[in-house]
Amino acid sequence: DAVGYMSGGFRSMYDAFLDELRAHGGTLVTGERVERLETEDGRVVAAITASERYEADAFVCTLPPQDAPAIARERSDLRAELEQWAGIEDVRALCMDLGFSREVRANLALVFEIERDLYYSIHSFTTPDLAPAGGQLLHAMAYLSPEEVANAELLQRRKDELVAGLDLHFAGWRDAIAVERTLSAVRVVGARQTPANRKRLVPLRSASAANLYFAGDARDVPLNLSQIVLASAIEVADAIAATPASLRETTTVA
Ligand SMILES: Cc1cc2nc3c(=O)[nH]c(=O)nc-3n(C[C@H](O)[C@H](O)[C@H](O)COP(=O)(O)OP(=O)(O)OC[C@H]3O[C@@H](n4cnc5c(N)ncnc54)[C@H](O)[C@@H]3O)c2cc1C
Repeated sequence: DAVGYMSGGFRSMYDAFLDELRAHGGTLVTGERVERLETEDGRVVAAITASERYEADAFVCTLPPQDAPAIARERSDLRAELEQWAGIEDVRALCMDLGFSREVRANLALVFEIERDLYYSIHSFTTPDLAPAGGQLLHAMAYLSPEEVANAELLQRRKDELVAGLDLHFAGWRDAIAVERTLSAVRVVGARQTPANRKRLVPLRSASAANLYFAGDARDVPLNLSQIVLASAIEVADAIAATPASLRETTTVA
C-alpha cells in the first residue's frame, strides 16, 4: 500500500488558504507568540504578544492542549478550564527527513516495523515533486514513549534503532544525503487515540469564555490527525459565521 502526500508539500495548502484570506481582506501575522489572553466578563477581549495587543470579537485557540494553560491568567476560570486538558497524552516521535541526491531504493513506498514502531516512508515515491528529479525524499520516524522523551540515553537508543533500520532497508543512504533534518522529540499529534483520552478531548467552544473557540488535532472530532485539524477549523468557522455579524471579526492566536 502507499501513503499519499500533498503535492508541493503542506506549503501549497497554506498558500491556497492565504490567497483566500488575503482576497477577503485578512492578514496573517507570523513569528509572534501569544503570551496571554485578556478576559473580561466571561469573554476574551484581547490576545497579548510581546509587541502587540490584538482585540477581536471572537478568538480561535489552536495551541496544543499541553501548552494552552500558559496563556490564561493564573487562578482564572479560563486557566482552570484549559488545565483539565493539559494532561492529555500526546504522541511524540524522533524524525529524520533525508533528501537524497540519487535514488537509494526503487519501487518502495514505505516500511513499517510494527514490533519496534519504526516507520520509513519515501514520500517522493507517491508524490514525485517532493524531491528534485533523480532524487528521493525519505522520512524516517521512531515513535517514542514518554520515558524515551524524558531520558537522553533512551532517546539516543531509539535514534540508533532508527539508523540501524536505515542501514537495513536503504543501503548506501549516507553517501546520498543532500539534505538532513532531525527533530528529536516532535509532537506528532496532541491527543493519542486512547480510551482515556477520548473521554476528555477539547470541545468546540470554551465554557468560561463564550467567544473562545478551539481547533486542532486534540479536538473531539472522530477523525485522524490533520483530518481533525481541518474538520475542527471548518466547525469553528461555521460556528462563528452563525453568530451575529457584529461578532464575526476573528483573531487566530496560533
Ligand atoms: C513528523 C510528523 C508527521 C506527520 N504525518 C502526518 C501525516 O502523514 N498525515 C496527517 O494527517 N498528519 C500527520 N502529522 C500530524 C499533523 O501534522 C498534525 O496533526 C497537525 O499539524 C496538527 O495541527 P494543529 O494545528 O492542531 O497543531 P500544530 O501543527 O502543532 O500547530 C500549533 C501551532 O501553535 C503554535 N503555538 C504554540 N504556542 C503558541 C503561542 N503561545 N502563540 C502562538 N502560537 C503558538 C505552534 O508554534 C504551532 O505552529 C504528522 C506530524 C508530524 C510531526
